[in-house]
Amino acid sequence: MNTPKSIPSGTCRDTPVLKERGQREVFCGLTGIIWLHRKMQDAFFLVIGSRTCAHLLQSAAGVMIFAEPRFGTAILEETDLAGMADAHEELDREVERLLSRRPDIKQLFLVGSCPSEVIKLDLARAAERLTQVHAPHVRVLNYSGSGIETTFTQGEDACLTSMVPVLPTTDQKELMLVGALPDVVEDQAVSLLSQMGIGPIRVLPAPRTAETPGVGPNTVFACLQPFLGDTAAALTRRGAHHIQAPFPFGEEGTTLWLRAIADEFGVDDDTFDRVTAAPRARARKAIANASEHLNGKSVFFMPDSQLEIPLARFLTRECGMEAIEIGQPFIHKGLVGPDLDLMPAGPTISEGQDVDKQLDRVRAAQPDLTVCGLGLANPLEAEGLTTKWAIELVFTPVHFYEQAGDLAGLFSRPVRRRAVLKLEAAE
Ligand code: SF4
Repeated sequence: MNTPKSIPSGTCRDTPVLKERGQREVFCGLTGIIWLHRKMQDAFFLVIGSRTCAHLLQSAAGVMIFAEPRFGTAILEETDLAGMADAHEELDREVERLLSRRPDIKQLFLVGSCPSEVIKLDLARAAERLTQVHAPHVRVLNYSGSGIETTFTQGEDACLTSMVPVLPTTDQKELMLVGALPDVVEDQAVSLLSQMGIGPIRVLPAPRTAETPGVGPNTVFACLQPFLGDTAAALTRRGAHHIQAPFPFGEEGTTLWLRAIADEFGVDDDTFDRVTAAPRARARKAIANASEHLNGKSVFFMPDSQLEIPLARFLTRECGMEAIEIGQPFIHKGLVGPDLDLMPAGPTISEGQDVDKQLDRVRAAQPDLTVCGLGLANPLEAEGLTTKWAIELVFTPVHFYEQAGDLAGLFSRPVRRRAVLKLEAAE
């Protein structure tokens, strides 16, 4: 029987992806440093870039810049750009100065930027050379956070990917959790898995260099974030086995994520239910309370962090929303495939951006909520649309059961505020 075209069938995995190229409104990968430097407590991130890069970090880090953060920018001057100074010698000098001033640094990342890439500064070679100079006290690695190569959260992916080749080799059967989450959230995940008898559990990135996990053919790993496609590929190349699952957002996502790992470690149903029953019930209740204003409302995601597909799955399946378009900067089906499988076909799935065309689609659809970057939020609010700043979803603890209510709350707050302001205006 032929299915009429107007009736969608299958899931979002089968939906043809609308690929767009054009003007983009996104952060570059340098922004990942803001949360990575807090997670990795003996690492330093040295951006080799211009004043633009330094200003970006300053404005993205907000008040954090006053807390002697473990990141900085080695600014390329005109003499460097014109090839009049030996940039490598200068870099060596800067690194020497930094490491003698901050002896607590055990891991130094040289982070490439657009300017360092355009002048083809070979930071990989510099990292190798500096590792030899400063071994065994400090390990120097390199990755690119440039806007030419990376979008926002891809900076974390590039950073973790750079660590994979130097992870020690192990034959032990271990679970590796991949992705930098706030400690309190990571502790919850580890606690739930440990209560099921799963272990040893390692995390990448580790809080301290000395705790760096090993990897080998008996390593199984699960990603905590959907933007870690390159890291997952690099771990797989080192023989580790990837556990695919929906991402741990909301009650359902968390349960399915835990279930996939539990299955890998042969955990029986009774144990699983005993450990998860209470937090599941708490999460369901918190979501029900927080999603009251979301039920029946429509949502439009502009591309930003690659969290969009799992979040749309959470909002449509657990908060009663309808997704109109789910924009992502990149789609790694190997990672977000299980989330796509859970959503019935219907929403437009787009990859990349042509911002003017996408804004036309937003205006035509008039969604109840538009999830977008800071640069678009206020202009859209001024047009009468309700928006949610996407960046908050990266910085706020939103994974796992105990944060499920807060996650729904982040989306319902702007909707509720709009309703309250309308009421006040009418009075
Ligand atoms: S890396 Fe590129 S996009 Fe990012 S701040 Fe520097 S110049 Fe701008």
